[in-house]
Amino acid sequence: MTVQLLGAADIRRLAAELDVTPTKRLGQNFVVDANTVRKIVSAARVEDGESVVEIGPGLGSLTLAILETGARVTAVEIDPRLASRLARTAAERGVPDGALEVVEHDAMTIEELPGAPRVLVANLPYNVSVPVLLHFMQTFPSLDRGVVMVQAEVGERLAAAPGSKIYGAPSAKAAWYGSWRLAGTVSRQVFWPVPGVDSVLVGFSRSPHALGTEEERVRTFRLVDLAFQQRRKMLRQALSSALGGSATAASAVLEAAGVAPTVRGEQLTIDDFLRIARVAASPGADPSA
Ligand code: SAM
Repeated sequence: MTVQLLGAADIRRLAAELDVTPTKRLGQNFVVDANTVRKIVSAARVEDGESVVEIGPGLGSLTLAILETGARVTAVEIDPRLASRLARTAAERGVPDGALEVVEHDAMTIEELPGAPRVLVANLPYNVSVPVLLHFMQTFPSLDRGVVMVQAEVGERLAAAPGSKIYGAPSAKAAWYGSWRLAGTVSRQVFWPVPGVDSVLVGFSRSPHALGTEEERVRTFRLVDLAFQQRRKMLRQALSSALGGSATAASAVLEAAGVAPTVRGEQLTIDDFLRIARVAASPGADPSA
């Protein structure tokens, strides 16, 4: 099968045909370089016959590169003009019938996808990249690996380890689902329009076993949010509202979980947060009870 990828002239022609002026609101920066989309697909190690989901296919640059491998793609696009043109673009460029399914939907709220995709590949809309990623990891457990392009600062944060200055709520929450790594940089010049920020590729592999139950995840993420909302504060203060209402009560829970009450959230792994959530939820943990 030969799929013809899109070049800069094709992208502009398609945008003109659809009367699409890329908008910041939808994070529309289209990749106009075939080498870049091939690099993303190769970083994701997409194989013939695999089931891939793409968030925000836009005019189809990356979509065609994924389809070129022989994989099947479900593409979730919010912009109706882009969603409605994509199947025709794929057919015109040599993609066989049935290899692509386009779903016009907001990726932030989609709850069902056809075909239990294993791989996520996307050049994400940058304004919503973290919530969209977490929503997909949470909602589609069939996803076991992927590569996404995001703003450089966001990618560095997702891949950051505890103890580093950039480790934050996105790093800790992403780690609930698996391991994340930086997988390369991308020049601003491969986009139209050229964005005002740098971009990186981030790869992930899902952990084979869930860390905890859904109820525990919700409790744990709440602690993560509290810890990083006041990241300069010691945990006994930052978490006091969730752990008994005072620094003293919070200290008792933290100590029972094996975490020093005087450290800050940036020191904690996601397992530490989970241990605290478990102790807090166990009978007898509330000193006021
Ligand atoms: N994949 C294309 C490429 O690489 O050229 C386009 C990437 S562009 C950075 C982001 C795409 O996501 C746009 O097509 C935009 O319309 C779409 N998008 C933005 N917000 C979205 C959402 N909430 N759900 C689904 N698609 C969205």
